[in-house]
Amino acid sequence: MAKEDYYELLGVTRNASDDEIKKSFRCLAMKYHPDRNRDNPKTEEQFKKIKEAYDVLSDPKKRSAYDQFGHAGVDPSMGAAGGFGFGGENFSDIFSDVFGDIFGGGGSRRRSRAQRGADLRYNLEITLEEAVAGTETKIRVPTLVVCEQCGGTGAKKGSAPITCPTCQGHGAIRMQQGFFAVQQTCPTCHGTGQQIKDPCRACHGQGRIQETKTLSVKIPAGVDTGDRIRLAGEGEAGETGGQPGDLYVQITVKEHPIFTRDGPNLYCEVPISFPTACLGGDMEVPTLDGKVVLKIPPETQTGRLFRLRGKGVKPVRGGLAGDLLCRVRIETPVHLNKEQLELIKKLDESLSGGGSHHSPQAHGWLDGVKQFFDKLGL
Ligand SMILES: [Zn+2]
Ligand SMILES: [Zn+2]
Repeated sequence: MAKEDYYELLGVTRNASDDEIKKSFRCLAMKYHPDRNRDNPKTEEQFKKIKEAYDVLSDPKKRSAYDQFGHAGVDPSMGAAGGFGFGGENFSDIFSDVFGDIFGGGGSRRRSRAQRGADLRYNLEITLEEAVAGTETKIRVPTLVVCEQCGGTGAKKGSAPITCPTCQGHGAIRMQQGFFAVQQTCPTCHGTGQQIKDPCRACHGQGRIQETKTLSVKIPAGVDTGDRIRLAGEGEAGETGGQPGDLYVQITVKEHPIFTRDGPNLYCEVPISFPTACLGGDMEVPTLDGKVVLKIPPETQTGRLFRLRGKGVKPVRGGLAGDLLCRVRIETPVHLNKEQLELIKKLDESLSGGGSHHSPQAHGWLDGVKQFFDKLGL
């Protein structure tokens, strides 16, 4: 088959300068860019021819050989020196070669073909009791799961994705813009390096479908607000069969009507009657695992903290259980009848007779007030 003239192919004269040849080649290369001619496989042939012509005419040695001997001077099949050819090359090699050539060379970085799925976060509210004892609960998580129809490839059953013809699987192409070589994500495959000719109907070629998954979550004993539980691989499915992401269950412990928590320790307030505070007595106080009896000694002041060792929370990361700290608060009796009021008055008179002896705090407090006024000179 007679070969077309290289100069004609590039649309330049025999006297064309190197610049003219290069310029013309660039125009033609863009025109026959396979990305712009996806429906026309003939352009691939044309592209090869242009590339061949350019390779010869851009090389002074080959060009002079071509000028002297025509195709015979440069055709490897004719055994000429400095030969080259496309014999074993496929279009992909040519294409990357061309872009390596006219777009400044250098490899292009491929986006990881199998994109890992996104991590997900689920906010879970649990009670204090659940946090302390641990629990197992079911959660419903809207997520992307691997499409069962295509197994995540996005290609219709029986077909498989092909290597993207535009970027040859690199996922990116280089474009020359003035002096700058710009690397762009491949517009054909959007960086995946693959192209799906026949997309799966179920997932529209995405390889993943939206679904609400029901998952069972084990909450270990001792968790606290702010703790996260990682469920490896339970996040979104990866793109085109990539690794799935993880699911993080973010724990929030609800407020408890009796206990407040501070790390491993629990706090609670215990109201005691005025006589109990005076005389002492036994008080039943709640703990997370049942009631215990708290011994209130005589002359207990309001605000006093009683520590119940080991009745707090066993930390999730190990260590001893914390304590339960009960703060007593003396309750002022209300709705007193005449007789009770008389008794209080009598008690008051009796106590007044003893001076500061019966009121250790008031004594200290009055002393402080006195010193304060003395300093001010009042
Ligand atoms: Zn599918
Ligand atoms: Zn591509």
